[in-house]
Amino acid sequence: MPGSSDAPPKPAPGPESGAQSPPRRAPTGITRLAPSPTGALHLGNLRTFVVNWALARQRGWRVVLRIEDLDTPRNKPGATDEALRVLRWAGLDWDEGPFVQSREPRPHREAMERLARSGLAYPCALTRGQIEAAASAPQEGAEGHEVVFPASLRPPLEPRAFDDPSTSWRFVVPERAVGFVDEFAGPQSRCPARTIGDFVVWTARGQASYQLAVVVDDARQGVTHIVRGDDLLDSAARQVLLIEALGLAPPPAYCHLPLVVGADGRRLAKRHGDTRLTRYMDMGVRAERVLGLLGAWCGVEAPRSGERGPRRERSITDLLAALALSSIPRGAIVFTAEDEQWLLGG
Ligand code: GLU
Repeated sequence: MPGSSDAPPKPAPGPESGAQSPPRRAPTGITRLAPSPTGALHLGNLRTFVVNWALARQRGWRVVLRIEDLDTPRNKPGATDEALRVLRWAGLDWDEGPFVQSREPRPHREAMERLARSGLAYPCALTRGQIEAAASAPQEGAEGHEVVFPASLRPPLEPRAFDDPSTSWRFVVPERAVGFVDEFAGPQSRCPARTIGDFVVWTARGQASYQLAVVVDDARQGVTHIVRGDDLLDSAARQVLLIEALGLAPPPAYCHLPLVVGADGRRLAKRHGDTRLTRYMDMGVRAERVLGLLGAWCGVEAPRSGERGPRRERSITDLLAALALSSIPRGAIVFTAEDEQWLLGG
């Protein structure tokens, strides 16, 4: 629950920080904005946050801001403050948080203890090389370069004490499909046993993995609706399994959006140029211009449903009024050279 946080939540940002929301009604759900401070927010990240926020404000969900900083080696100094600055600049606001995952490890540990006690997790110190060598038919996982953990490496399943938090622990993935309905992507059926196998829920750094921390924190914070990029559809299936194993049901409602890609069809990244929001901010690009491009990507005022809309400057209030999930193009959104020119005033 939101109130169970150890640290008192900081006050939500006031009107000066960009709150443009309509008057609040009794909440109909809870969602979260969950940036990771592993790099600077780029246009693709902001597109997802803006859609998430707009759906929340249209539908009366509370918004929790959660900083997902457990991928410690990849955290960049200053990235959290920068993310907050970008979100506020764009006009987004939130009702609770920021909660910082690394500051509240106890619930993660308790969940890990529960999995171990139920015989649903085991310590595993095998290296990637050892796992690859044992995988009979090395295969790429659906998320790129993940190795499918072979069930032959699983030790006998038995209740265990979680007495070794400086070793990785893996979750026992059942050999079955996981089904859920995604509001944007439609009905899903995925089989994590085939795409990843037993996955890591606790890292040798002594922290919960992303999968475990997300599930525990979503449940604690009462999250009912998750909106994020569709690169996490496979993760959603893993998360449903963890939710069931931990008895945290029901799972939240999911809405996974197609990613923004470069002209080469690959996910927006440094190779497509510098699309960090801080760069545009430093160059004096107005938020309205960026929001106008995001609106175009989301099909606002598109000639036909599911197509791009025209690029036109928009305030966050206008975008909030105009944005509809049903208008967002079904395929990946391409960030073009013309988009960049337009952002820079062309
Ligand atoms: N923190 C993750 C990210 O920035 C989002 C994870 C999630 O929404 O579950 O990609």
